[in-house]
Amino acid sequence: MSQDAQELWAQCLLNIERRVRAQSFNTWFRPTTARQFNAELLEIEVSSSYFAHFVESNYLSLIVSVVDEETRLSPQVSFVVAHETGPMTRPEAASAIEPATQTSERVVESAPPAAPSRPIFDTAVAATNNGPLSHVPLNERYLFEMFVVGEGNRFAHAASQAVAQSPGKTQFNPLVIYGGVGLGKTHLLQAIGHHALATETGLKVVYVPSEKFMSDFIESLRKQNAAEFQHLYRSADILLVDDIQFLIRGEHTQNEFFHTFNTLHQSGKQIVMTCDSPPGELEGLEERLISRFQWGLVTSIEAPDLETRIAILQKKAEINGILLPDDVATFLGNYISSNIRELEGALNHIMAYCAVNQAELSVDAARRIVKERSTQQRSHLSIEGIQKMVANHFDLTPELLIGKTRKQDVSSPRQIAMYLAKRHTKSPLKIIGLHFGNRDHSTVVHAVQTVDRKCREDPAFARVVASLSDEIKQQESH
Ligand code: ADP
Ligand code: MG
Repeated sequence: MSQDAQELWAQCLLNIERRVRAQSFNTWFRPTTARQFNAELLEIEVSSSYFAHFVESNYLSLIVSVVDEETRLSPQVSFVVAHETGPMTRPEAASAIEPATQTSERVVESAPPAAPSRPIFDTAVAATNNGPLSHVPLNERYLFEMFVVGEGNRFAHAASQAVAQSPGKTQFNPLVIYGGVGLGKTHLLQAIGHHALATETGLKVVYVPSEKFMSDFIESLRKQNAAEFQHLYRSADILLVDDIQFLIRGEHTQNEFFHTFNTLHQSGKQIVMTCDSPPGELEGLEERLISRFQWGLVTSIEAPDLETRIAILQKKAEINGILLPDDVATFLGNYISSNIRELEGALNHIMAYCAVNQAELSVDAARRIVKERSTQQRSHLSIEGIQKMVANHFDLTPELLIGKTRKQDVSSPRQIAMYLAKRHTKSPLKIIGLHFGNRDHSTVVHAVQTVDRKCREDPAFARVVASLSDEIKQQESH
């Protein structure tokens, strides 16, 4: 794999990281590498065929657009499963057995030296062999060894360790960890999985974001293979369900989850869940589920204090083999206070910058980069801000505005929103299209032209657009 390919891909990943949810980035992008990256072909190496299939069906257009933006190239994008030769065109054609050994190299690379290299997937693999349903791979970086303990997460960490050491045998069943974004919930959840897999043989660990639980369930109804679905989730020794706040979207899914929960709990299997708020406060979550959560332990994870933030930065730098000067760590720790994911993102950005420019990791470089990141984020935020504002004005929901309907009373406001996004953010057309339900950049061009023309032809229309435009300017100046 060439150095250039890696560097180009790393540059694209930095861009992608700003555009997708951190959970998705960590799961689907962080573990990837580029085998080839040139004008004709971008070959992305992933760990399994399920993985390739998922990324391809959900993120291909994002990848294409980011590659274009970052490199001005439009190569064909293909996925290869690690340690398999040749590109993979049909995901089903790839080996059904996850190549367990391929992860061990990376585990060694990213783990502290004492950590044993080990296959991560072996015990859960059986479930993937006989059908389309499969588990989500664990992120190899989410180990206990890489988790920094501070005041805000001490208890959640201790409970997680206890559960990992004796799954199903502690008071903490189920264990529910709740807290804000980027505070380490997913990290702890997966660390439990890693630990159990490393220490006990034959345990089946299933990690699943609740959205996937839901989509698998719906899929199983559609294909009428409920048995397979139930087999996957009810045969787990440890079931790790991430972000259960999304379960509330589906009544039937909640019911199914309730039965899964009961089956596992009755047979002494361990269940761990994360949530973005206390389960009792989740409107729409069934009482019977909430009361079952109380059987075990519901605990929170709080934002880290300054010392913990600095320690996390130092750990991340160490893992990357970089010496992080104290003043840079202190600067960053002070600058970014609430979200560890953001802290990590800024550090990655700085490390990439210093590597590319062969510059020292200095406070000045750090300051420049965090500034640049915050303006970029503002411009992305404002596309959503503009959508909300326009939707409000026309009494629509943002979902409807972004959605597919072609009715004039929706499509015209949509064009106005695209026009305003083009005028008021520095985002490229492709990115604007992406934010509008993944539409092509030519659609955005068409919208801008149409709105321009209508403004010339119809003074009333022009007034509406001008007043929305003023409103945006006002918000910007705050
Ligand atoms: P959440 O699921 O709560 O939104 P994540 O578990 O995805 O957050 O954490 C976001 C990022 O921050 C991850 O890369 C994770 O490794 C890192 N992180 C969070 N807390 C810690 C910690 N205490 N020590 C080390 N890294 C952490
Ligand atoms: Mg998470």
